[in-house]
Amino acid sequence: LSEGLQSAFKSLSGKGKLTEANMRDGLKIVEESLLESDVSYSVVKDFMSHVTEKALGKRVLLSLRPQEELVRIVHEELVATLGPVDSSLHLNADRPTIIMLCGLQGSGKTTTCGKLTQLLREQNIQPLLVAADLQRPAAIEQLKVIGDQLGVPVHTETDHKDPVKVCRNGVDRAKKDGNRVVILDTAGRLAIDEELMSQLKMIDRKVGPDQVYLVVDGMTGQDAVNSAGAFNAALELDGVIMTKLDGDARGGALLSVKQVTGVPIKFIGTGERFDALEPFRPEGMASRILQMGDMVAAAREAHRIVDEKEREELEAKMASGEFSLDDFKGMMQKIAQPGLMGRMMGLMPGMSQFKEAMESEEAGGQMRQIIGLIDSMTPAERKNPKLIDSSRRTRIANGAGVPSPMITQLLKQFDTMKPLMQIMAGKGTGDRLSMLRQ
Ligand code: GDP
Ligand code: MG
Repeated sequence: LSEGLQSAFKSLSGKGKLTEANMRDGLKIVEESLLESDVSYSVVKDFMSHVTEKALGKRVLLSLRPQEELVRIVHEELVATLGPVDSSLHLNADRPTIIMLCGLQGSGKTTTCGKLTQLLREQNIQPLLVAADLQRPAAIEQLKVIGDQLGVPVHTETDHKDPVKVCRNGVDRAKKDGNRVVILDTAGRLAIDEELMSQLKMIDRKVGPDQVYLVVDGMTGQDAVNSAGAFNAALELDGVIMTKLDGDARGGALLSVKQVTGVPIKFIGTGERFDALEPFRPEGMASRILQMGDMVAAAREAHRIVDEKEREELEAKMASGEFSLDDFKGMMQKIAQPGLMGRMMGLMPGMSQFKEAMESEEAGGQMRQIIGLIDSMTPAERKNPKLIDSSRRTRIANGAGVPSPMITQLLKQFDTMKPLMQIMAGKGTGDRLSMLRQ
């Protein structure tokens, strides 16, 4: 697949304008990437036709290459689709604001009650929590524990099974006690069912919450989309909170959920703790969905260092597989300037963990050492590192005065550095994708 990606993005490079023909392959990659991120097929189709229309014939910004321009357009469209930003709870001035949380069982409603409470407490607002999940006895207890931990009151009723009554009484109590916010923690089921929906509709109608938020589990992908459709049909939603985005989920379901419900995504949950709630930011999520991070920035940085002619040479060598250790050394010398490697690493998604290491004194020394090692090789070896067998390894190591495993390490580094080199050569986006798919 990575070869396909390379050629796909190659077809885009060096063209002055985005056309249907040179975009087709790039768009296919974006489409795949979205599908892999759990965006539903119909949403992807809509989205892609939108992007194609926007990108078609668009003049490429002077400093950017067409493939980067395409990524920029896709990113921009994602941000527009995921937006607008609205993490306000829209509190009333004159009466308690009733926030109702609904969603499937296990989606994170009760935990989110705690997280919203923490958020409100930081603004010196004392909410009242209402235990309206009467399906499971443990649910009431769970909310009580959360109330205790955060020092806020929890309204519970255990002598009946009417959630509407519990909610009404809870709201009355908040009015009496002067709580500015009431949070209703409702029941969920493992799957959508009529009884649950009619129960929630009843609460919605009889208690009249100001804000109804759907809590969806970001790990569930397509299921999240289906349940969002059902909840949206039954209730007038005011927002979505997607939980469990601290895991591997790329959050593509957000795009589908957003499309299905049309309401703002308010917050995302990024952990089990009460402080793991973040206001939703479309830019970050768009990058995450595309898993490209800020590739355009990385490419810009690279373009600043390597001029156009060098880049073309490099690109040709990459394409023909002639990229040699000499070229590697040349790049090393260029990027060995202090701080640069670190900045590059910081810009590349998944590479930020190496940022510190690359910025250290030690990294500078290692790079100089690598350059020394390459100098101890014959031109033939530099051109074709595959020639370097164990006896050659020993000779080179002796020449450079290092232990021979270092040569093995260098050759390995040469391989792992290739994607970075390709970014320097201006093929950042495609190679980032190919790196991900390896
Ligand atoms: P409910 O049935 O909708 O009330 O769901 P709960 O609030 O009881 O949460 C179900 C499980 O998901 C619990 O184990 C929570 O700790 C966990 N959970 C909730 N939100 C998050 C989150 O943002 N990240 C992670 N990792 N776990 C979460
Ligand atoms: Mg619960």
